[in-house]
Amino acid sequence: MGSRGMTHGKGPGRPKHQPLRTCLGCGQKKPKRELVRVVRTPSGAIEVDPTGRKAGRGAYVCPGESCLRTAVRGRRLERALEVAVPEEVLDLLAKAVSDGTGRVAEPSRPVETPRASRVSPPGTRSGRDPLKG
Ligand SMILES: [Zn+2]
Repeated sequence: MGSRGMTHGKGPGRPKHQPLRTCLGCGQKKPKRELVRVVRTPSGAIEVDPTGRKAGRGAYVCPGESCLRTAVRGRRLERALEVAVPEEVLDLLAKAVSDGTGRVAEPSRPVETPRASRVSPPGTRSGRDPLKG
């Protein structure tokens, strides 16, 4: 009996799904990465979440002062988070959006640095020996 081994390769890679979130200020849906995330952690603390990866209930605003102001004054932010947002968090948020990046300096937290340098193994392939007897 002849047996044929057929191996099906995996399909082509799908395009990356871009998660959209709604800004509490202007109400526009934007890619999550372009928004500043505020999170209510499981312990109940409100934090600005530059990484967008903290666990908890999140709310999003554009990195712009007008959107932040609308979100805060309209109480949309605290309604979204279901708790009042402390002033220090609003302060951090204001800094984050004024920077335009949504990044917040957190001195007490070590920053993860991705390792960009790759160590390539040295090629130890020896050529043909030119000397032959
Ligand atoms: Zn907005």
